[in-house]
Order: sequence, then structure tokens, then C-alpha cells
Amino acid sequence: MPTNPQRWRLDRLRAVMRSATLDAALIVHLPTVRYLTRFSGSNGTLLVLRRSVHFFTDDRYAEQVKTELARLPNMRVHITRDTFGEIAVECMRAGAERLGIEEHAMTLSQHRQLRQLLPQVATEALGSLDDLRMVKFPDELDAMRRAARIASKVYRQMLEWVRPGMRERDVAAELSYRARLAGSESDAFEIIVVAGEHGAFVHGRASDRRLRKGDVVTVDFGCRVEGFHSDMTRTFVIGKPSAEVQRAWDAVQTAHARALEVLCAGVRAADVDRAAREVIERAGYGEFFRHSLGHGLGVEVHEPPALSSRNTDGIVPADCVVTVEPGIYIPGRFGMRLEDDVYVGRDGNEILTTAPRRLAVI
Ligand code: ZN
Ligand code: ZN
Repeated sequence: MPTNPQRWRLDRLRAVMRSATLDAALIVHLPTVRYLTRFSGSNGTLLVLRRSVHFFTDDRYAEQVKTELARLPNMRVHITRDTFGEIAVECMRAGAERLGIEEHAMTLSQHRQLRQLLPQVATEALGSLDDLRMVKFPDELDAMRRAARIASKVYRQMLEWVRPGMRERDVAAELSYRARLAGSESDAFEIIVVAGEHGAFVHGRASDRRLRKGDVVTVDFGCRVEGFHSDMTRTFVIGKPSAEVQRAWDAVQTAHARALEVLCAGVRAADVDRAAREVIERAGYGEFFRHSLGHGLGVEVHEPPALSSRNTDGIVPADCVVTVEPGIYIPGRFGMRLEDDVYVGRDGNEILTTAPRRLAVI
């Protein structure tokens, strides 16, 4: 691995540009801007030319860029309120003829502006830059390890303070607050706390529903450290679980273990999903596992590779981080899920989320 991550990332972007015969690339998607430059503000745009790099932001961030922005070779910082005007000037100055844009991130009005300012320059889709980010650098992995550790610690503590009578939203608010105190920059996404029949809403919102005896409760939350995320789900029961709940949980836990056996660098993403799904199908819950097994994780909570039956061409590369999250959701009754973040290394996996995986009983 090279010693300068930012430099390495830029080199990889330039390799993408070369293979698409582009002289310039315009990055507007903030997670990618942060990935390439470390800049964490809300207004940042990056123009990468063959021999220079231009970063654009406005005067609110004039001080922040001095300390936060990575020093890239031949980089110029533009503090401006006319980003696109200055982008056009730099493209013309460099004689760019083909400009790569992020088709999923650029708005139609930004694209119109570009077309007006640079009528002679062809804009081409840059392809998904998400693939660039699959392979994690040691510093990225370290941030993700910390984000996973905070979530794990906060969950473990939660088992001590959570009790019947609390609303789902109370639990979510406490988790968020405690994670922030423990060093998380922010929640990775809106925290999911769903109890009883609510548990069947896979991505349900924490509501006013109060926890009560007999509930199966699913908690899905994550933290952010230096822009990198964790994403973890645990399930607990209030009071002794019924035989049916225990049977479903055993299927979830076995499916999770089976996925970890199959997951390795070079495996087909769809095969990992298949391995876990077969366990749940054999247990008779196939129709109640309605989402894919997992997803890549990094500066965004969902990024490639998808561990999904639809990702038939996808291969899990070495040094990526994916979630493994089998679940069973029975409408009107309960839902449950077990989700860990897993670093797929050349020499084996490391589970980053360390909170206990058993079905906790409170
Ligand atoms: Zn999750
Ligand atoms: Zn997830």
C-alpha cells in the first residue's frame, strides 16, 4: 500500500479518467469530495485536470480549508461564489475537451450551467466512482474500526438502561446522545428502533410506541468517525422469548455464521447472499427475509459491493468492508436482524462490530 492515501486516491481517479479518455473530471458529490480531499464542509467541488487539481468552496470555509484540506500535487484552492464560472475558466485554460461528470450526483441545473459556460466541451458520464472506494486504506479501516467500536459500546450499555415503558424514540435519542459523547461525529443514518409488530417494518422509524413485555426489539444504528461509518443491528427481547421467536433467531444467527464462513476476498457477492438465504429458507422463513444480505460500507452507508442475489457479476475485493445482515420479518408479529460490519482482508475477515451477538433478554 502506498504511504499517501490522498495521493493514491487521486492517482486512481486519474486512471479512471485515462481509461475513459477524459481530460478533466468534475466531482460534486460531497462524500466523494471528502474521500478525495478530506474536506467535510457543505460546499466543496473538485475539478481534476491532467496536471492540476482545483478545489472550490465559499468564504464560510476559508479558514477550514487551511487545516483540513489534503495537500494534493498542483492544487489550487478557489474561494468563490461563482464555482461554475471558475471551473469553466480552468477547463478552457487547460484546453480540456472531454469532461467527466458524476451522472448520479450532478443536478440538471448544474449540467445546464456547464453546457452554457463550456459549449465546446463534451460532458461524459464518469461512471460510478463508488467502485474506487471499495478498497479501504489502513487509515480508513482504522476510522471504521473506531466507528464500530463506539456503536458496540453504546449498544452494550443500552442493555443496562433500556426498559419497558420507554418509547422507541426515547431509545433512539439516548443511543444518539451517548454515541456522540463517545466520539461519534453524528449518527450514520436515522436510528431504527422498532418493537413488536413494528419490527416487521424493516426500515421503520422510531415512533411513540412504548416497549412492553414480550416485545422483540430491533435496534439498527451506526456512528461516523472522520467521515467513515459503522452500521450495526442487534435484537433483544423483553422477557423470555417464545419458542417461535427463539427458532427464528436461531435461523438468523446460523445464516449470519454461514455467510461469514463463505465471505472472503474473491468470492462472488451473490454466493454470500445465497449461502445465508439457504439457511433461512431451510428453516421455513424464506419468504420473510425480504432484503439482500448486506452492502459495502465507507464514506457512505450503502456503497458497493452489494451482497445481493442481483449482484451476479460482483466480486468481493480484498480490503473492503461489508455488512452481513440477515433478518426475518413476520407481518403483524415481530421482526429481527443481526448485522455486523466485516473487513474482508487478504488473510481472513475481521468483524469490526463487537457487541454480543446473542438474542439479549432484558
Ligand atoms: Zn443497519
Ligand atoms: Zn446495513
